[in-house]
Amino acid sequence: MTATTRLCEIIAQGGKVSTDFGDDDGFAVLVRHGYLSEAGVLTSVVCDECDAPHSAPVVYEADMYGYYCPDLGFLPLVAARLAVFSPDIPKLIDRLAEALGCRQRKSSSIFGETWRIGAAQTDAATVMLYFHPTLETEDDARVLQDALGREARSEWRLVVTAQGALPMAGLATVRFDDLTEIDITTGALSVIADPGVLAGSPRKNPGGRPSAHGDLLKPLIVGRISDGTAVEGVNAEAGEVRTAFKAKYPNRSIPSGSAIKRYIREARGGS
Ligand SMILES: [Zn+2]
Repeated sequence: MTATTRLCEIIAQGGKVSTDFGDDDGFAVLVRHGYLSEAGVLTSVVCDECDAPHSAPVVYEADMYGYYCPDLGFLPLVAARLAVFSPDIPKLIDRLAEALGCRQRKSSSIFGETWRIGAAQTDAATVMLYFHPTLETEDDARVLQDALGREARSEWRLVVTAQGALPMAGLATVRFDDLTEIDITTGALSVIADPGVLAGSPRKNPGGRPSAHGDLLKPLIVGRISDGTAVEGVNAEAGEVRTAFKAKYPNRSIPSGSAIKRYIREARGGS
């Protein structure tokens, strides 16, 4: 299991976890890089040393942790195994906002367990990202909607969650580990999916990046087709367009050959 998925599990589980919950590399990565922070020690343990398994309160005696078993007496416990950790949500929100290059972050929760990560600029749209731990029950949905009711309405919204994908009108959701990945060496969070696509915003330029010259190039190319000056081959026409562009807009930078050709193909009904 990846560290990212492990973190999802821990957040979804909702509370504090001891090292016993995840005694593996993923857990260690999360602790090492601050995704989990220490939150005290276990208050009770289950005794599996005697014949009748029972729980017992953890006590601190003679400089060591342990518990009392009715049959065996005082049994010491290794302190390191008693540590309890909880997800550091503020830190996680901050790292998500950083990785997504968000503006309009909010450093405290909007309400309850709902956070605004911030607005991410994608190719097609600005997406407002939120975080809510789990989206599994009607109750989760209601609590989330309540919190979002306090926010200005954004056209494109995406809710990041650790578990569940309850469908909600006008609200796209994504699991934390489907959107990001934690590097196990550096602890850095990176984005592995496009929030714009996940939020369902239409892609404006499926053929490639928009050219800064589009507004000038398009009418020029279309004009040459309609008045019959366009030549047949795309490459040849691109050369002609380039010359015409230079003559008509002497003060503008010259568009790239690939941009010109793309607009010619577009004007000719290709893609
Ligand atoms: Zn016992």
